[in-house]
Amino acid sequence: MTATGGAARGTAARPPAIDGPVSAPGDGARSAALMARARELFPGGVNSPVRAFGGVGGEPFVVARGEGARIWDVDGREYIDYVLSWGPLVLGHAPPAVLDALDDAMRRGTSFGMPTALEVELAEVIRARMPHIEMLRFVSSGTEATMSLLRLARAHTGRDRVLKFDGCYHGHADSFLVRAGSGVATLGLPNSPGVPAALAALTVTAPFNDVEATAATVRRHAGELAAIIVEPVVGNAGFIAPDPAFLPALRALADEVGALLIFDEVMTGFRIAPGGARERFGVVPDLTALGKVIGGGLPVAAYGGRGEIMAGIAPQGTVYQAGTLSGNPLAMAAGLATVRSLTPALHDRISDRTATLVRGLREIAARQGVPFSADHAGTMWGFFFREALPRSYDEARDSDVGLFRRVFHAARVRGLSFAPSPFEAAFMSAAHGERELSETLARFDDAVRAARAAA
Ligand code: PLP
Repeated sequence: MTATGGAARGTAARPPAIDGPVSAPGDGARSAALMARARELFPGGVNSPVRAFGGVGGEPFVVARGEGARIWDVDGREYIDYVLSWGPLVLGHAPPAVLDALDDAMRRGTSFGMPTALEVELAEVIRARMPHIEMLRFVSSGTEATMSLLRLARAHTGRDRVLKFDGCYHGHADSFLVRAGSGVATLGLPNSPGVPAALAALTVTAPFNDVEATAATVRRHAGELAAIIVEPVVGNAGFIAPDPAFLPALRALADEVGALLIFDEVMTGFRIAPGGARERFGVVPDLTALGKVIGGGLPVAAYGGRGEIMAGIAPQGTVYQAGTLSGNPLAMAAGLATVRSLTPALHDRISDRTATLVRGLREIAARQGVPFSADHAGTMWGFFFREALPRSYDEARDSDVGLFRRVFHAARVRGLSFAPSPFEAAFMSAAHGERELSETLARFDDAVRAARAAA
């Protein structure tokens, strides 16, 4: 299969147009009317907080459909999409391979609550790319994966504390809503009400990339620490890469105090390298959470790692975790089609395009005299309106958020969809070709000029 080009279609029937032809862009009235109805139904009008545009102001647009690198809203406005469902869509929207796999799986039945071959096949493909994941369990969201890993780590070590890093987001389980990133950072609510103080007290935090502070915290809690959990490349405080010494230091510290090292690769898995953080950085975690790409746009996540630890999960062991729709055949089929299509060669091609895009954006900002930094790891990338790339959440916050908001809106009206927050990574897909790249750069150039003029 080829995963390039927005125009390619599979054999699956094309859905009917929801809102008429896309060639006559409306003024946003349909989006506004739908959001007014949505606000009566959903808190903030949305089913996940960051979609509400709280970080940038204004109203979200309501999406009608996507194809390749582009999405269209219900008013017929087209956007080149760098949100890509917050990471999963590494092949782009509605890729033929995934549509065909879904079509095939759907006709056999949508859910059984019994083992299927698809689960075994997807697990084998994942393990072939990430051999340190000797055994795994499929779940339906990243939150479930990290939450289950923490339970497992606590049971395995007989300890209760966990160390996480400021600005890292590991889903919305109680223990992780402490100095968290993503929507909680965007909305300025890093510690959530409703989390029992006694539980929050078991989560200790340290600044990302600060080996000295991390070592001090780890040693202060030696003997109590079940796990150190980290996004190996942070995507939920904006894009922040680890210093070369950081992840090896975490490995050594975990070993020193007998804690487990957990890589939360829900975002980075199958994005920063075909084999994830282990391949890119050469550091082997005990346990790993995966999500996003392994579901190809359907609800799939997984957790896994050393067989001897995973054997603790029920029914082999006694640590309980279950799910009615875990390993759902539609979700497995979409994930399998995605991960199989994402060969190392395709990964490299998308990664090269990401590098070209990041370079182009930097050049535009430099020409316009705007403080700007941008970087990528494989097909995951990000930018900040600050001179130097941030190394921590505190540094990320020290970027020009006002300029981000103005550029975001100017880019949106010019047909670019970026995450509506300066504290989120961006993504690239196989469907973003030369044409999308040059259109993106032209639109961004224009957007930055307009945003500066509006200041
Ligand atoms: N971990 C990381 C690194 C994430 O980026 C996310 C979501 O963005 C999660 C966990 C939670 O995943 P989910 O939203 O599927 O619950």
